[in-house]
Amino acid sequence: MAPTWVHFCVNFLCISLIGATNSNMWLKPVLAGLFGYILADLATGIFHWAFDNYGDVSTPFVGYIIGAFLNHHQRPSLSTMNQFANLNYPLAQATVFVLLPIDFANNDPILHAFVGSFFGWFMCSLQIHAWAHTEKDRLPRLVVVLQEIGVLASPAKHALHHRPPYNNSYCMVSGVWNELLNKLKVFEAMEMLLFQMFSVTPRSWSNKD
Ligand SMILES: [Zn+2]
Ligand SMILES: [Zn+2]
Repeated sequence: MAPTWVHFCVNFLCISLIGATNSNMWLKPVLAGLFGYILADLATGIFHWAFDNYGDVSTPFVGYIIGAFLNHHQRPSLSTMNQFANLNYPLAQATVFVLLPIDFANNDPILHAFVGSFFGWFMCSLQIHAWAHTEKDRLPRLVVVLQEIGVLASPAKHALHHRPPYNNSYCMVSGVWNELLNKLKVFEAMEMLLFQMFSVTPRSWSNKD
């Protein structure tokens, strides 16, 4: 079952990207794909921050994801032991339901390039994150090179997320947004806003993650 969702998702991502490359224009789809890659990093940061700080394993629909994040913080190396399809199928499953209607409803190559790139990188973020926790000599050479040039989140940069004060560096594709978000304390500001509005405290305030 798990590999099926990954296959479905990869199929739809390929349809999106082939649709974009079959058009006679290149620059706009390429730029849209690049935009999708950059925004996917930000999106993973927002989701990761939300799951790290709010809800628990009993939260409807996403409780199992929150539980996985909480377990990961207690034993970070566990994420490197997951089989590929088991690690990636939750995001593939969610992505299929968003990609499917977009693929059927619209043939715009620019939109397809953006959607294919955004959801492709978003879907791969758990795998990229697992690579950031894997010893260098166990990784494919290409992955190490992509980490070193900043295309993928590097172990050194992601390690900041697992150190006190445990409230930053949430982005998990390239991590390109982390420095800016950390510097501006964006997530800390959002936590304060949610506390003032709903009196909910984030887990990061207890520093127990
Ligand atoms: Zn985390
Ligand atoms: Zn981690």
